[in-house]
Amino acid sequence: MRAIILSIGDELTLGQTVDTNSAWLAKQLAGIGFRPAAHLTVPDDRDAIRQAFEESVGRCDALVVSGGLGPTEDDLTRQALADFLNQPLELAPAALENVERFFRALRREMPEKNRIQAMLPRGAEMIENTAGTAPGIYCNYLSGDQKTVCEIFIMPGVPKEMKIMFERSVRPKLAGGEPGRVGPGSAGVILSKTLHTFGLGESAVAERLGELMRRDRNPSVGTTVANGYVSLRLNAYFPTPAEAERQMAETASACRAALGDLIWGEDEQTLPEVVGRLLAGARETVTTAESCTGGLLAKLITDVPGSSAYFKQGWVTYANDAKTALLGVSPVTLQREGAVSEAVVAEMAAGALERSGADSALAISGVAGPDGGTTEKPVGTVCLALVARRDAAGGSTRTFIFHGDREMVRDRSAKMALTMLRFHLLGKPLPF
Ligand code: ATP
Ligand code: MG
Repeated sequence: MRAIILSIGDELTLGQTVDTNSAWLAKQLAGIGFRPAAHLTVPDDRDAIRQAFEESVGRCDALVVSGGLGPTEDDLTRQALADFLNQPLELAPAALENVERFFRALRREMPEKNRIQAMLPRGAEMIENTAGTAPGIYCNYLSGDQKTVCEIFIMPGVPKEMKIMFERSVRPKLAGGEPGRVGPGSAGVILSKTLHTFGLGESAVAERLGELMRRDRNPSVGTTVANGYVSLRLNAYFPTPAEAERQMAETASACRAALGDLIWGEDEQTLPEVVGRLLAGARETVTTAESCTGGLLAKLITDVPGSSAYFKQGWVTYANDAKTALLGVSPVTLQREGAVSEAVVAEMAAGALERSGADSALAISGVAGPDGGTTEKPVGTVCLALVARRDAAGGSTRTFIFHGDREMVRDRSAKMALTMLRFHLLGKPLPF
């Protein structure tokens, strides 16, 4: 089964609002076996909307629309639908009751303007809105020659209202009444999963995956890069949810076998969360000593609710003097090796470990740019140290050169520090 997702709004076509509705709807539709054939975005323009209906109905089984149901002059979706269907707009008592009920609940008088929201093209049905004023519109379109059939669902643009309406009324209708069931006559179910890695480039990850990335494979495996993470996107297309789940599990373990511990998590998980769970599981604490990242590492660690169980304090020592005064870094080491050196981060970490009483300490010092690079230490050069109380070897230090602007260098530095800690907690060496 194919779906087209149509978003309506000037703010979307002008780029003032990012169209998050389409992305969310695409995922939901895929989960019930509808392959999104296209995403369309049109402004609040009656002709443009009518034309989008005309062009879409022959290309999909379900046209899922959001936006333009408001009570004001610039909300024209219902008028455009009436134009397209060539039917008059009529007052629908059930829809009027829906709008009035909303205002009664707020103990407010319904403005006359809102009556338009109770108007439906003849033959269309209202979709109840339990979260706002605008009822949605449903119609089962059948062309004059009976050749084209398309179910049209129109929902409000406000993301929260749209989601509630989709869950309550649209999904059950598309899925044939049962949540998770595949639509009537559908080609099957689409399951998706994402696995996240950090540390290797996209092509190095792809190389390890080899045949798993073949374009004709089902489940398919693709890679995407975002915020320094290389993620694998797995999509399984099968007739039944059970088969899709079984195949998905097999492909996910094949990916895990190819990449091992480079995969740090799945789907909505975050790296700081995963590292936090390892710390909590080991009943260990960590502290931070940061220079070029200015506290970003501590910020990432404390983004996680409950992080107070394993993080008590950290230091931001930006200037050399501060490194010496607060962490006991030797002025001689600073002078001899420079602030961006493995010797200095090792002393920063050791000083932080001693002063905090934590089980491990991470230290970062680097050249974030845009200035300050030299031939020996170009912009992007970052030294990292991890010192652990139970580590007889006295910890480890590494130097990386990260590519990108200041923000990217700082971001990758903090994530690499977390990655070093993660492998330490797993009891394994860094695999790169
Ligand atoms: P109504 O919700 O009353 O039917 P509408 O959908 O056109 O009318 P707007 O006032 O245009 O409502 O939009 C409401 C809010 O929802 C705005 O903040 C708008 O930016 C946001 N919005 C609309 N469409 C989308 C979308 N596709 N993705 C993300 N946000 C959206
Ligand atoms: Mg709008």
